[in-house]
Amino acid sequence: MKDRILVINSGSSSVKADVFRMTDQELEFLAGGIADRIGQPQGVFKTRNETEVLVQEERGFPDHASAIHHFKDYFTSAGFFTAQNGLAIGHRVVHGGNKITRPTLLDDTAISIIEECVAYAPLHNPPNLTGIRVCASLFDLPQVAVFDTAFHATMPGKAYSYAIPREISQRYGIRRYGFHGTSHEYVAREAAKRLAIPFAKFNAVTLHLGNGASICAIENGQSVDTSMGFTPLEGLIMGTRSGDIDPAVVLFLQQKENLTPAETDALLNKKSGLLGLTGTNDMRDITQRAASGDQNAQLAVDMFCYRARKYLGAYAFALGRLDAIIFTGGIGENAAGIREKIITGLENFGIYFDPKANKAAAGGWLSHAESPVKVMVIATDEEKMIARCVLQVLGR
Ligand code: ADP
Repeated sequence: MKDRILVINSGSSSVKADVFRMTDQELEFLAGGIADRIGQPQGVFKTRNETEVLVQEERGFPDHASAIHHFKDYFTSAGFFTAQNGLAIGHRVVHGGNKITRPTLLDDTAISIIEECVAYAPLHNPPNLTGIRVCASLFDLPQVAVFDTAFHATMPGKAYSYAIPREISQRYGIRRYGFHGTSHEYVAREAAKRLAIPFAKFNAVTLHLGNGASICAIENGQSVDTSMGFTPLEGLIMGTRSGDIDPAVVLFLQQKENLTPAETDALLNKKSGLLGLTGTNDMRDITQRAASGDQNAQLAVDMFCYRARKYLGAYAFALGRLDAIIFTGGIGENAAGIREKIITGLENFGIYFDPKANKAAAGGWLSHAESPVKVMVIATDEEKMIARCVLQVLGR
């Protein structure tokens, strides 16, 4: 029976692949893995099922194609995804621009739009395209692309427009696109389900706090604002990205340091954020250092939380009515101290955060039962969301 979906996330230096089985109720995760450090001599190949690690080996892959070939061989021989049971393939694609705003069955037109969007996402769309092409050569199956930008396509003009001359923004498609859409949508849908609120009536702010971080205002189940913009650089302080900064600082530095566009890009995207402030982008290290009295680390933690809290407040007011606030991502899911700093002391706004529940995070509830605004932590699962989108596109 053809009931399996393969989800491919072909990123800049890794390929992740997961297999889901369609059931009457939900999608069941069967197995998944990562081929990491592609192009480097010391690569890693790891797979797991719901409960245990299945394979863990040092294995270098010269390129994305060889990694995907290896996944195919592995999934076929282990019986997870074969010619007999494979139904379709879903791909994570970062940027769909203005032209693709929903999960889409891949044909030549869709692929050429993803190619056009390489200009907007030069590090991400090319490896995404490689994943699509390699899978097309290996499998005779329908392929669906699911875009990080798509969930945010519902933002109104007042939220997505930048106040620069209109003819310039129109000429180059300059606007806020937003990213992490699959994650924001997944955790918001899960939260609405747990609260038994129809998604079409659900108002929430979702905080995806990982190495990349963004926050999203959701009104009646639709994204109406988000902190990442034209690129993922805008908004929150991230692992290596500055987030919001006065553009005049950039101009000043370009003049003083004779920075080229590529150097400026590296400065703000790769050397800033938590890394620039403390020397590491690992929030675990930073919180430990802060706890042992490191002032720089403490300032970085304070800045990270303050920026997130400020956006949370802005989005709560933009929405006017909130059902829930949801934390996700590596930091959002694991760092209770960071969550507490972001959200404590907001009872005046109907947010009755419970520090004890926050530490236990049992069942994902972080607020008192009677809190008008529920605070929750929900582990994101972008792959499952992509698999769901594949079924939707196929009409299943
Ligand atoms: P990515 O954006 O690469 O997917 P993740 O969502 O995996 O990133 O998040 C990675 C971040 O989560 C790192 O900064 C890591 O230190 C942080 N993190 C994971 N567990 C904890 C923890 N227990 N306490 C604090 N930070 C954590």
